[in-house]
Amino acid sequence: NPIHSPRLRLWDDTSMAASMISRHVAVIGAGAAGLVAARELHREGHRVVVFERESRVGGTWVYTPGTEADPLGTDPGRAVVHSSLYKSLRTNLPREVMGFGDYPFLARADGSGDPRRYPGHEEVLAYLEDFAREFGLEEMVRFEKETVGVGMVEEGGKWKVKWRMRNGGGGGGGGGGGNGRREEDVFDAVVVCNGHYTEPRIAEIPGIDLWPGKQMHSHNYRTPEPFQDLVVVLIGSAASAVDISRDIAKVAKEVHVASRSYEDKTLGIQPDYKNLWLHPMIEKAHEDGKVTFLDGGSVGADIVLHCTGYKYHFPFLETNGIVSVDDNRVGPLYKHVFPPLLAPRLSFLGLPWKVVPFPQFEYQSKWIASALSGRIALPSEEEMMADVEDFYSELEAAGIPKRYTHNLANSQFEYNDWLAGQTGSRPSEEWRKKMYSDSSRKRRAGPETYRDEGEDETLVSQAHEDFAKHPS
Ligand code: FAD
Repeated sequence: NPIHSPRLRLWDDTSMAASMISRHVAVIGAGAAGLVAARELHREGHRVVVFERESRVGGTWVYTPGTEADPLGTDPGRAVVHSSLYKSLRTNLPREVMGFGDYPFLARADGSGDPRRYPGHEEVLAYLEDFAREFGLEEMVRFEKETVGVGMVEEGGKWKVKWRMRNGGGGGGGGGGGNGRREEDVFDAVVVCNGHYTEPRIAEIPGIDLWPGKQMHSHNYRTPEPFQDLVVVLIGSAASAVDISRDIAKVAKEVHVASRSYEDKTLGIQPDYKNLWLHPMIEKAHEDGKVTFLDGGSVGADIVLHCTGYKYHFPFLETNGIVSVDDNRVGPLYKHVFPPLLAPRLSFLGLPWKVVPFPQFEYQSKWIASALSGRIALPSEEEMMADVEDFYSELEAAGIPKRYTHNLANSQFEYNDWLAGQTGSRPSEEWRKKMYSDSSRKRRAGPETYRDEGEDETLVSQAHEDFAKHPS
Protein backbone atom coordinates (compact mmCIF):
# COMPACT_ATOMS: atom_id res chain seq x y z
CA ASN A 1 0.00 0.00 0.00
CA PRO A 2 1.62 3.24 -1.13
CA ILE A 3 0.22 5.16 1.82
CA HIS A 4 2.18 2.98 4.23
CA SER A 5 5.43 3.51 2.39
CA PRO A 6 7.65 5.75 4.55
CA ARG A 7 9.26 7.02 1.34
CA LEU A 8 6.05 8.73 0.36
CA ARG A 9 5.58 10.79 3.47
CA LEU A 10 8.90 12.54 3.19
CA TRP A 11 9.57 15.59 1.13
CA ASP A 12 12.20 15.00 -1.54
CA ASP A 13 15.77 15.75 -0.49
CA THR A 14 16.02 19.16 -2.12
CA SER A 15 12.91 20.45 -0.42
CA MET A 16 13.91 19.00 2.94
CA ALA A 17 17.16 20.92 2.72
CA ALA A 18 15.73 24.26 1.69
CA SER A 19 13.73 26.54 3.97
CA MET A 20 10.49 28.43 3.25
CA ILE A 21 9.40 26.14 0.47
CA SER A 22 6.26 27.25 -1.33
CA ARG A 23 3.70 24.43 -1.47
CA HIS A 24 0.54 24.08 -3.49
CA VAL A 25 -2.04 23.65 -0.73
CA ALA A 26 -5.74 22.81 -0.83
CA VAL A 27 -7.91 24.08 2.01
CA ILE A 28 -11.32 22.50 2.41
CA GLY A 29 -13.91 24.98 3.62
CA ALA A 30 -14.09 28.79 3.75
CA GLY A 31 -15.47 29.22 7.26
CA ALA A 32 -13.45 31.05 9.90
CA ALA A 33 -10.89 28.21 10.01
CA GLY A 34 -10.41 27.94 6.26
CA LEU A 35 -10.13 31.71 5.90
CA VAL A 36 -7.42 32.17 8.49
CA ALA A 37 -5.65 29.06 7.19
CA ALA A 38 -5.65 30.58 3.70
CA ARG A 39 -4.24 33.82 5.08
CA GLU A 40 -1.46 32.18 7.07
CA LEU A 41 -0.53 29.78 4.27
CA HIS A 42 -0.40 32.66 1.82
CA ARG A 43 1.68 34.78 4.22
CA GLU A 44 4.12 31.89 4.50
CA GLY A 45 4.48 31.88 0.72
CA HIS A 46 2.30 28.91 -0.19
CA ARG A 47 -0.03 28.81 -3.19
CA VAL A 48 -3.52 28.25 -1.85
CA VAL A 49 -6.80 27.00 -3.30
CA VAL A 50 -9.81 26.93 -0.98
CA PHE A 51 -12.69 24.62 -1.93
CA GLU A 52 -16.01 25.87 -0.60
CA ARG A 53 -19.26 24.08 -1.24
CA GLU A 54 -21.43 27.14 -0.60
CA SER A 55 -21.52 30.37 -2.61
CA ARG A 56 -20.04 32.63 0.08
CA VAL A 57 -17.50 32.64 2.89
CA GLY A 58 -18.45 32.36 6.58
CA GLY A 59 -19.46 28.70 7.07
CA THR A 60 -21.54 28.31 10.22
CA TRP A 61 -22.17 32.07 10.33
CA VAL A 62 -24.14 32.06 7.07
CA TYR A 63 -27.64 31.79 8.58
CA THR A 64 -30.27 30.14 6.46
CA PRO A 65 -33.97 29.81 7.30
CA GLY A 66 -33.96 26.56 5.30
CA THR A 67 -33.72 23.24 7.11
CA GLU A 68 -33.15 19.65 6.08
CA ALA A 69 -35.99 17.39 4.97
CA ASP A 70 -35.11 14.94 7.75
CA PRO A 71 -35.58 16.99 10.97
CA LEU A 72 -33.35 14.62 12.97
CA GLY A 73 -30.61 14.94 10.35
CA THR A 74 -29.68 11.28 10.47
CA ASP A 75 -30.50 10.22 6.89
CA PRO A 76 -27.08 9.89 5.21
CA GLY A 77 -28.63 10.61 1.79
CA ARG A 78 -30.26 13.86 2.89
CA ALA A 79 -29.54 17.19 1.22
CA VAL A 80 -27.23 18.78 3.80
CA VAL A 81 -27.79 22.30 5.11
CA HIS A 82 -24.45 23.39 6.56
CA SER A 83 -25.31 25.97 9.21
CA SER A 84 -26.96 25.17 12.53
CA LEU A 85 -27.64 28.77 13.51
CA TYR A 86 -31.03 29.79 14.86
CA LYS A 87 -32.51 33.15 14.04
CA SER A 88 -32.20 34.71 17.50
CA LEU A 89 -28.59 33.59 18.04
CA ARG A 90 -26.23 36.04 19.69
CA THR A 91 -22.62 35.11 20.36
CA ASN A 92 -21.85 33.42 23.65
CA LEU A 93 -18.46 35.14 23.87
CA PRO A 94 -17.73 38.85 24.08
CA ARG A 95 -16.49 40.20 20.76
CA GLU A 96 -13.07 41.22 22.15
CA VAL A 97 -12.37 37.59 23.13
CA MET A 98 -13.80 36.08 19.97
CA GLY A 99 -11.83 37.87 17.25
CA PHE A 100 -8.56 36.89 15.59
CA GLY A 101 -5.38 38.01 17.38
CA ASP A 102 -4.37 40.63 14.83
CA TYR A 103 -7.77 41.50 13.37
CA PRO A 104 -10.01 42.42 16.30
CA PHE A 105 -13.77 42.01 16.15
CA LEU A 106 -14.61 45.65 16.77
CA ALA A 107 -17.92 47.48 16.62
CA ARG A 108 -18.00 49.73 13.55
CA ALA A 109 -16.84 53.27 14.15
CA ASP A 110 -19.82 54.69 12.22
CA GLY A 111 -22.29 52.91 14.52
CA SER A 112 -23.67 50.69 11.75
CA GLY A 113 -24.14 46.97 12.25
CA ASP A 114 -24.70 45.49 15.70
CA PRO A 115 -22.38 47.21 18.19
CA ARG A 116 -23.27 44.99 21.16
CA ARG A 117 -20.43 43.11 22.86
CA TYR A 118 -22.34 39.84 22.31
CA PRO A 119 -23.74 40.65 18.88
CA GLY A 120 -26.23 38.79 16.71
CA HIS A 121 -24.94 36.27 14.16
CA GLU A 122 -25.18 38.72 11.23
CA GLU A 123 -22.43 40.79 12.80
CA VAL A 124 -20.06 37.79 12.95
CA LEU A 125 -20.68 37.01 9.30
CA ALA A 126 -19.99 40.65 8.39
CA TYR A 127 -16.73 40.46 10.38
CA LEU A 128 -15.60 37.31 8.56
CA GLU A 129 -16.51 38.88 5.21
CA ASP A 130 -14.47 41.97 6.15
CA PHE A 131 -11.58 39.71 7.15
CA ALA A 132 -11.73 37.91 3.80
CA ARG A 133 -11.84 41.23 1.92
CA GLU A 134 -9.05 42.82 3.94
CA PHE A 135 -6.63 39.99 3.11
CA GLY A 136 -7.81 39.28 -0.44
CA LEU A 137 -8.90 35.77 0.54
CA GLU A 138 -11.93 35.43 -1.71
CA GLU A 139 -9.63 35.33 -4.71
CA MET A 140 -8.30 32.02 -3.42
CA VAL A 141 -11.74 30.46 -2.95
CA ARG A 142 -13.42 28.24 -5.51
CA PHE A 143 -17.06 28.65 -4.56
CA GLU A 144 -19.74 26.00 -5.01
CA LYS A 145 -17.11 23.33 -5.34
CA GLU A 146 -17.69 20.49 -2.93
CA THR A 147 -14.76 18.27 -2.10
CA VAL A 148 -15.81 14.66 -2.51
CA GLY A 149 -12.47 12.87 -2.25
CA VAL A 150 -9.11 13.52 -0.59
CA GLY A 151 -6.48 10.82 -0.98
CA MET A 152 -2.81 10.31 -1.67
CA VAL A 153 -1.52 9.99 -5.19
CA GLU A 154 0.31 6.68 -5.77
CA GLU A 155 3.67 8.27 -6.51
CA GLY A 156 5.34 11.42 -5.20
CA GLY A 157 3.52 11.87 -1.91
CA LYS A 158 1.06 14.35 -3.37
CA TRP A 159 -2.65 14.62 -2.68
CA LYS A 160 -5.54 14.26 -5.06
CA VAL A 161 -8.58 16.42 -4.33
CA LYS A 162 -11.75 15.38 -6.13
CA TRP A 163 -14.53 17.91 -6.29
CA ARG A 164 -17.89 18.52 -7.92
CA MET A 165 -19.94 21.56 -8.76
CA ARG A 166 -22.50 21.93 -5.99
CA ASN A 167 -25.45 23.67 -7.59
CA GLY A 168 -24.97 23.15 -11.31
CA GLY A 169 -27.68 20.51 -11.60
CA GLY A 170 -30.20 22.29 -9.45
CA GLY A 171 -28.88 21.07 -6.13
CA GLY A 172 -30.08 24.37 -4.69
CA GLY A 173 -28.21 24.29 -1.40
CA GLY A 174 -28.53 20.58 -0.85
CA GLY A 175 -25.52 18.33 -0.39
CA GLY A 176 -27.09 15.66 -2.54
CA GLY A 177 -27.45 18.10 -5.43
CA GLY A 178 -25.05 19.14 -8.17
CA ASN A 179 -24.98 18.18 -11.79
CA GLY A 180 -22.30 15.62 -11.22
CA ARG A 181 -19.51 17.49 -13.01
CA ARG A 182 -16.54 16.04 -11.17
CA GLU A 183 -12.93 16.99 -11.51
CA GLU A 184 -9.75 16.50 -9.60
CA ASP A 185 -6.58 18.45 -8.89
CA VAL A 186 -3.28 17.48 -7.35
CA PHE A 187 -1.75 19.35 -4.40
CA ASP A 188 1.30 19.06 -2.18
CA ALA A 189 -0.83 19.25 0.95
CA VAL A 190 -4.40 19.45 2.22
CA VAL A 191 -5.75 21.34 5.23
CA VAL A 192 -9.19 20.12 6.33
CA CYS A 193 -11.43 22.93 7.64
CA ASN A 194 -14.90 21.55 7.01
CA GLY A 195 -16.41 22.43 10.41
CA HIS A 196 -17.98 20.09 12.94
CA TYR A 197 -21.43 21.46 13.69
CA THR A 198 -23.42 19.91 10.85
CA GLU A 199 -23.70 16.17 11.49
CA PRO A 200 -26.16 15.69 14.38
CA ARG A 201 -25.53 13.46 17.35
CA ILE A 202 -28.74 11.97 18.72
CA ALA A 203 -29.52 10.87 22.28
CA GLU A 204 -30.44 7.21 22.64
CA ILE A 205 -33.85 6.99 24.30
CA PRO A 206 -35.29 3.61 25.28
CA GLY A 207 -38.74 3.12 23.73
CA ILE A 208 -38.42 6.01 21.26
CA ASP A 209 -39.29 3.87 18.21
CA LEU A 210 -42.83 3.30 19.47
CA TRP A 211 -43.31 6.77 20.93
CA PRO A 212 -45.90 8.61 18.79
CA GLY A 213 -44.46 12.15 18.94
CA LYS A 214 -42.05 13.98 16.64
CA GLN A 215 -38.30 14.31 17.02
CA MET A 216 -35.83 16.83 15.70
CA HIS A 217 -32.24 17.98 16.28
CA SER A 218 -31.23 21.56 17.08
CA HIS A 219 -29.34 21.56 13.75
CA ASN A 220 -32.76 22.11 12.20
CA TYR A 221 -34.08 24.58 14.78
CA ARG A 222 -34.55 28.14 13.48
CA THR A 223 -37.46 29.90 15.20
CA PRO A 224 -39.86 29.14 18.09
CA GLU A 225 -43.15 29.62 16.16
CA PRO A 226 -43.61 25.96 15.12
CA PHE A 227 -43.63 25.06 18.86
CA GLN A 228 -46.66 27.24 19.66
CA ASP A 229 -48.77 25.57 22.40
CA LEU A 230 -46.79 22.32 22.27
CA VAL A 231 -45.27 20.33 25.11
CA VAL A 232 -41.58 20.07 24.27
CA VAL A 233 -38.93 17.83 25.82
CA LEU A 234 -35.52 19.28 25.04
CA ILE A 235 -32.39 17.22 25.70
CA GLY A 236 -29.08 18.89 26.48
CA SER A 237 -27.32 21.40 28.67
CA ALA A 238 -24.78 23.15 26.44
CA ALA A 239 -25.07 26.72 25.13
CA SER A 240 -27.60 25.98 22.39
CA ALA A 241 -29.86 23.96 24.76
CA VAL A 242 -29.92 26.90 27.16
CA ASP A 243 -30.71 29.42 24.41
CA ILE A 244 -33.24 27.33 22.52
CA SER A 245 -35.20 26.24 25.62
CA ARG A 246 -35.68 29.93 26.49
CA ASP A 247 -36.53 30.84 22.90
CA ILE A 248 -39.22 28.15 22.75
CA ALA A 249 -40.61 28.88 26.22
CA LYS A 250 -41.92 32.17 24.80
CA VAL A 251 -44.56 30.31 22.78
CA ALA A 252 -44.73 26.66 23.88
CA LYS A 253 -47.22 25.34 26.41
CA GLU A 254 -44.45 23.62 28.39
CA VAL A 255 -40.73 23.11 27.92
CA HIS A 256 -39.04 20.28 29.84
CA VAL A 257 -35.25 20.23 29.66
CA ALA A 258 -33.66 16.81 30.28
CA SER A 259 -30.02 17.12 31.27
CA ARG A 260 -27.20 14.80 32.24
CA SER A 261 -25.35 17.47 34.19
CA TYR A 262 -27.19 19.53 36.79
CA GLU A 263 -27.10 20.39 40.46
CA ASP A 264 -30.03 18.93 42.42
CA LYS A 265 -31.09 22.34 43.69
CA THR A 266 -31.58 23.58 40.11
CA LEU A 267 -34.12 20.88 39.16
CA GLY A 268 -37.80 21.77 38.75
CA ILE A 269 -39.45 24.96 37.57
CA GLN A 270 -36.91 27.57 36.47
CA PRO A 271 -36.72 31.00 38.11
CA ASP A 272 -38.78 33.65 36.27
CA TYR A 273 -40.65 31.04 34.18
CA LYS A 274 -44.07 29.44 34.47
CA ASN A 275 -43.52 26.86 31.73
CA LEU A 276 -39.84 25.81 31.86
CA TRP A 277 -38.62 22.88 33.94
CA LEU A 278 -35.27 21.14 34.40
CA HIS A 279 -35.23 17.34 34.79
CA PRO A 280 -32.65 14.58 34.99
CA MET A 281 -32.15 12.55 31.79
CA ILE A 282 -35.01 10.74 30.09
CA GLU A 283 -35.56 7.23 31.36
CA LYS A 284 -37.95 6.06 28.64
CA ALA A 285 -40.41 7.19 25.99
CA HIS A 286 -43.75 5.34 26.06
CA GLU A 287 -46.28 4.28 23.43
CA ASP A 288 -48.99 6.44 25.02
CA GLY A 289 -46.93 9.61 24.39
CA LYS A 290 -45.48 9.91 27.90
CA VAL A 291 -41.82 10.61 28.52
CA THR A 292 -40.44 9.58 31.92
CA PHE A 293 -37.33 10.97 33.59
CA LEU A 294 -34.78 9.20 35.79
CA ASP A 295 -36.22 10.77 38.96
CA GLY A 296 -39.64 9.25 38.26
CA GLY A 297 -41.24 12.41 36.84
CA SER A 298 -43.20 12.19 33.59
CA VAL A 299 -44.87 14.37 30.96
CA GLY A 300 -47.05 13.74 27.93
CA ALA A 301 -44.99 15.38 25.19
CA ASP A 302 -45.54 16.36 21.56
CA ILE A 303 -41.93 16.66 20.47
CA VAL A 304 -38.42 15.72 21.58
CA LEU A 305 -35.77 18.23 20.55
CA HIS A 306 -32.21 16.85 20.67
CA CYS A 307 -29.73 19.63 21.53
CA THR A 308 -27.09 16.96 21.90
CA GLY A 309 -24.25 18.22 19.78
CA TYR A 310 -22.55 17.05 16.64
CA LYS A 311 -20.21 14.43 15.20
CA TYR A 312 -16.97 14.91 13.34
CA HIS A 313 -17.62 13.89 9.78
CA PHE A 314 -15.18 13.64 6.87
CA PRO A 315 -17.08 11.83 4.12
CA PHE A 316 -14.39 12.78 1.57
CA LEU A 317 -11.36 11.30 3.36
CA GLU A 318 -9.70 8.44 1.51
CA THR A 319 -6.80 7.67 3.82
CA ASN A 320 -7.29 3.90 4.07
CA GLY A 321 -8.06 4.15 7.75
CA ILE A 322 -4.85 6.03 8.64
CA VAL A 323 -7.09 8.71 10.11
CA SER A 324 -10.51 7.71 11.36
CA VAL A 325 -13.28 8.80 13.69
CA ASP A 326 -13.88 6.47 16.63
CA ASP A 327 -16.49 7.49 19.20
CA ASN A 328 -15.96 11.09 18.06
CA ARG A 329 -12.19 10.91 18.49
CA VAL A 330 -10.44 11.92 15.27
CA GLY A 331 -7.18 10.08 15.34
CA PRO A 332 -4.44 9.48 15.62
CA LEU A 333 -3.62 13.19 15.53
CA TYR A 334 -0.54 14.90 16.96
CA LYS A 335 -1.80 17.87 19.02
CA HIS A 336 -5.24 17.56 17.38
CA VAL A 337 -3.79 18.58 14.00
CA PHE A 338 -1.40 16.20 12.23
CA PRO A 339 -1.79 12.46 11.57
CA PRO A 340 1.80 11.37 12.37
CA LEU A 341 2.09 9.16 9.31
CA LEU A 342 0.87 11.83 6.90
CA ALA A 343 2.29 14.97 8.52
CA PRO A 344 2.65 17.70 7.50
CA ARG A 345 0.85 17.02 4.23
CA LEU A 346 -2.51 16.36 5.80
CA SER A 347 -3.78 18.47 8.67
CA PHE A 348 -7.02 19.17 10.51
CA LEU A 349 -7.89 22.63 11.69
CA GLY A 350 -10.41 23.57 14.36
CA LEU A 351 -11.22 20.21 15.92
CA PRO A 352 -11.00 21.23 19.61
CA TRP A 353 -14.24 22.26 21.32
CA LYS A 354 -15.11 24.25 24.43
CA VAL A 355 -12.55 26.77 23.23
CA VAL A 356 -12.47 30.26 21.78
CA PRO A 357 -12.37 29.17 18.15
CA PHE A 358 -11.01 32.01 15.99
CA PRO A 359 -7.74 32.77 17.83
CA GLN A 360 -7.03 29.06 18.16
CA PHE A 361 -7.59 28.54 14.43
CA GLU A 362 -5.01 31.26 13.88
CA TYR A 363 -2.40 29.56 16.09
CA GLN A 364 -2.99 26.20 14.44
CA SER A 365 -2.81 27.76 10.96
CA LYS A 366 0.54 29.39 11.65
CA TRP A 367 1.90 26.05 12.86
CA ILE A 368 0.65 24.19 9.78
CA ALA A 369 1.95 26.87 7.40
CA SER A 370 5.42 26.84 9.01
CA ALA A 371 5.62 23.04 9.07
CA LEU A 372 4.74 22.97 5.37
CA SER A 373 7.31 25.59 4.42
CA GLY A 374 10.02 23.82 6.38
CA ARG A 375 10.56 26.88 8.58
CA ILE A 376 9.97 24.61 11.55
CA ALA A 377 10.47 20.86 11.79
CA LEU A 378 7.92 18.54 13.30
CA PRO A 379 9.12 15.70 15.50
CA SER A 380 9.65 12.34 13.78
CA GLU A 381 6.65 10.18 12.99
CA GLU A 382 7.57 7.86 15.88
CA GLU A 383 7.87 10.74 18.33
CA MET A 384 4.53 12.20 17.28
CA MET A 385 2.89 8.79 17.56
CA ALA A 386 4.37 8.26 21.03
CA ASP A 387 3.04 11.67 22.09
CA VAL A 388 -0.44 10.76 20.82
CA GLU A 389 -0.35 7.42 22.62
CA ASP A 390 0.73 9.07 25.86
CA PHE A 391 -2.11 11.55 25.53
CA TYR A 392 -4.66 8.78 24.94
CA SER A 393 -3.31 6.84 27.94
CA GLU A 394 -3.62 9.93 30.13
CA LEU A 395 -7.25 10.36 29.07
CA GLU A 396 -7.97 6.72 29.77
CA ALA A 397 -6.26 6.82 33.18
CA ALA A 398 -8.36 9.85 34.09
CA GLY A 399 -11.54 8.01 33.03
CA ILE A 400 -12.22 10.47 30.20
CA PRO A 401 -14.19 8.85 27.37
CA LYS A 402 -12.83 8.95 23.80
CA ARG A 403 -15.54 11.33 22.72
CA TYR A 404 -14.00 14.03 24.95
CA THR A 405 -10.57 13.75 23.27
CA HIS A 406 -10.90 17.16 21.61
CA ASN A 407 -12.59 18.88 24.57
CA LEU A 408 -10.02 21.47 25.62
CA ALA A 409 -12.17 23.23 28.20
CA ASN A 410 -9.41 23.08 30.80
CA SER A 411 -6.37 23.46 28.59
CA GLN A 412 -7.18 25.70 25.64
CA PHE A 413 -4.84 28.54 26.61
CA GLU A 414 -2.03 26.19 27.52
CA TYR A 415 -2.54 24.51 24.14
CA ASN A 416 -2.58 27.87 22.31
CA ASP A 417 0.59 28.92 24.08
CA TRP A 418 2.28 25.67 23.10
CA LEU A 419 1.30 26.33 19.47
CA ALA A 420 2.49 29.93 19.74
CA GLY A 421 5.82 28.66 21.05
CA GLN A 422 6.26 26.47 17.98
CA THR A 423 6.10 29.42 15.61
CA GLY A 424 7.40 32.23 17.80
CA SER A 425 3.98 33.90 17.95
CA ARG A 426 2.54 35.95 20.75
CA PRO A 427 0.95 33.76 23.46
CA SER A 428 -2.68 34.31 24.56
CA GLU A 429 -3.23 37.71 26.11
CA GLU A 430 -3.94 37.84 29.85
CA TRP A 431 -7.01 40.03 29.33
CA ARG A 432 -8.44 37.45 26.90
CA LYS A 433 -8.06 34.62 29.39
CA LYS A 434 -9.62 36.65 32.18
CA MET A 435 -12.46 37.98 30.05
CA TYR A 436 -13.18 34.44 28.84
CA SER A 437 -13.37 33.01 32.35
CA ASP A 438 -15.47 35.95 33.58
CA SER A 439 -17.93 35.55 30.72
CA SER A 440 -18.20 31.77 31.28
CA ARG A 441 -18.95 32.36 34.95
CA LYS A 442 -21.54 35.03 34.15
CA ARG A 443 -23.17 32.76 31.57
CA ARG A 444 -23.60 29.95 34.07
CA ALA A 445 -24.98 32.32 36.70
CA GLY A 446 -27.42 34.18 34.44
CA PRO A 447 -28.06 32.50 31.08
CA GLU A 448 -30.73 35.07 30.16
CA THR A 449 -28.88 38.16 31.26
CA TYR A 450 -25.11 37.65 30.90
CA ARG A 451 -24.93 39.12 27.40
CA ASP A 452 -26.27 42.48 28.51
CA GLU A 453 -24.62 42.81 31.90
CA GLY A 454 -22.26 45.69 32.57
CA GLU A 455 -18.79 45.49 31.14
CA ASP A 456 -15.55 45.09 33.03
CA GLU A 457 -14.17 48.40 31.81
CA THR A 458 -10.60 47.67 32.87
CA LEU A 459 -10.43 44.48 30.84
CA VAL A 460 -12.15 46.08 27.86
CA SER A 461 -9.65 48.94 27.84
CA GLN A 462 -6.74 46.50 28.19
CA ALA A 463 -8.08 44.68 25.14
CA HIS A 464 -8.33 47.90 23.15
CA GLU A 465 -4.85 49.03 24.15
CA ASP A 466 -3.58 45.68 22.95
CA PHE A 467 -5.47 45.93 19.62
CA ALA A 468 -3.87 49.32 19.02
CA LYS A 469 -0.40 47.90 19.69
CA HIS A 470 -0.76 44.94 17.35
CA PRO A 471 -2.37 45.95 14.08
CA SER A 472 -2.72 43.29 11.40
P1 FAD B 1 -17.59 26.24 9.57
O1 FAD B 1 -17.85 27.62 9.96
O2 FAD B 1 -18.58 25.20 9.80
O3 FAD B 1 -17.02 26.22 8.10
C1 FAD B 1 -16.80 25.03 7.38
C2 FAD B 1 -16.92 25.35 5.89
O4 FAD B 1 -16.56 24.17 5.15
C3 FAD B 1 -18.32 25.72 5.46
O5 FAD B 1 -18.28 26.91 4.72
C4 FAD B 1 -18.77 24.53 4.60
O6 FAD B 1 -19.65 24.91 3.57
C5 FAD B 1 -17.45 24.03 4.06
N1 FAD B 1 -17.46 22.62 3.68
C6 FAD B 1 -17.86 21.56 4.44
N2 FAD B 1 -17.69 20.41 3.76
C7 FAD B 1 -17.16 20.75 2.56
C8 FAD B 1 -16.76 20.00 1.40
N3 FAD B 1 -16.87 18.67 1.35
N4 FAD B 1 -16.25 20.68 0.34
C9 FAD B 1 -16.12 22.03 0.36
N5 FAD B 1 -16.51 22.79 1.42
C10 FAD B 1 -17.01 22.15 2.51
N6 FAD B 1 -18.03 30.39 18.04
C11 FAD B 1 -17.71 31.57 18.62
O7 FAD B 1 -16.54 31.98 18.57
N7 FAD B 1 -18.66 32.30 19.26
C12 FAD B 1 -19.96 31.91 19.33
O8 FAD B 1 -20.77 32.60 19.91
C13 FAD B 1 -20.32 30.69 18.70
N8 FAD B 1 -21.61 30.27 18.69
C14 FAD B 1 -21.94 29.16 17.99
C15 FAD B 1 -23.28 28.76 17.94
C16 FAD B 1 -23.67 27.64 17.23
C17 FAD B 1 -25.11 27.24 17.17
C18 FAD B 1 -22.69 26.88 16.55
C19 FAD B 1 -23.07 25.67 15.76
C20 FAD B 1 -21.36 27.24 16.62
C21 FAD B 1 -20.97 28.37 17.34
N9 FAD B 1 -19.63 28.77 17.41
C22 FAD B 1 -19.30 29.94 18.05
C23 FAD B 1 -18.57 27.92 16.87
C24 FAD B 1 -18.38 28.11 15.36
O9 FAD B 1 -18.58 26.89 14.81
C25 FAD B 1 -17.03 28.67 15.09
O10 FAD B 1 -17.05 30.02 15.49
C26 FAD B 1 -16.58 28.68 13.64
O11 FAD B 1 -17.55 29.29 12.84
C27 FAD B 1 -16.19 27.35 13.06
O12 FAD B 1 -15.51 27.60 11.87
P2 FAD B 1 -15.01 26.45 10.89
O13 FAD B 1 -14.37 27.15 9.76
O14 FAD B 1 -14.24 25.45 11.66
O15 FAD B 1 -16.30 25.69 10.43
